[in-house]
Amino acid sequence: MKLIKTVAELRAEIALWKKAGKSIGLVPTMGALHEGHASLIKAAHAENDCVVVSVFVNPTQFGPNEDLDAYPRTLEADCHLAEVMGANVVFAPSPKEMYPSTAMTWVEVTGDVTKVLCGRSRPIHFRGVTTVVSKLFNLAQPDRAYFGQKDAQQVEVLQRMVKDLFFNLELKIMPIVREADGLAKSSRNTYLQPEERAAALVLSRSLKKAQEAFAAGERNGQNLVDLVSRSIASEPMSVIDYVEIYALPELQPVTTPLKGRNLLAVAVKFGTTRLIDNVILEA
Ligand code: AMP
Repeated sequence: MKLIKTVAELRAEIALWKKAGKSIGLVPTMGALHEGHASLIKAAHAENDCVVVSVFVNPTQFGPNEDLDAYPRTLEADCHLAEVMGANVVFAPSPKEMYPSTAMTWVEVTGDVTKVLCGRSRPIHFRGVTTVVSKLFNLAQPDRAYFGQKDAQQVEVLQRMVKDLFFNLELKIMPIVREADGLAKSSRNTYLQPEERAAALVLSRSLKKAQEAFAAGERNGQNLVDLVSRSIASEPMSVIDYVEIYALPELQPVTTPLKGRNLLAVAVKFGTTRLIDNVILEA
């Protein structure tokens, strides 16, 4: 496994693979890799000849008062996990390498898909994501790129971007990997104090209640939102950012009764740590 830090070196490696007719899988990450990331790398390894894992804490997707500086950086351990899961290259560029001082270009998906949920509380977030992911697509030229359902809105935004910009690749979306007790794995879980970690279990528990209500025939979106909101609010350490339901794809308002695929998504703070989680409810 090669650790590559420059654009020029990555381009040279990709050119060799392309010349040899190899298929390429790309797994974009911000590092502090855990089993959620590992599942993406494993899938990429199973479906492609060569795998690039990018490890880049992308500054442009963090707002001014967010956790850019505090975000965990564990490159050595990340390289080890990536190698074990079958990566051929870890691409870990510096911010200057990805955003030279001369850079003036943003890639931005407009419309409701970036305006609701995390787009409302983190207004510049998705513009940062689509810009850096476009750069990574152009550099790695993947046949397939792997993302997690954990970041459900990101998935919808990227599907739209790939369609609109004619990126010639397939997006592969992998299920949410959870701890044994239900907490969705996240690099940000390391911020949680033990009592916050225990309180955060209310997220998966509440979403499960909604899934059960839906399975039992509840088809009113607002009732499901109310059920989850009440359940999360019953945990005194929780501070709700949002509990909302949207129709998939592209996060349109839901119908009553619910039809098709719907995303019930939550963002909740425990102390200073903001966690997200979601379920898809499919009628
Ligand atoms: P991040 O490093 O948090 O930007 O995540 C990189 C990729 O891993 C994104 O596509 C995430 O959706 C995905 N990911 C993060 N956590 C999980 C998880 N618990 N299960 C599945 N995928 C995940």
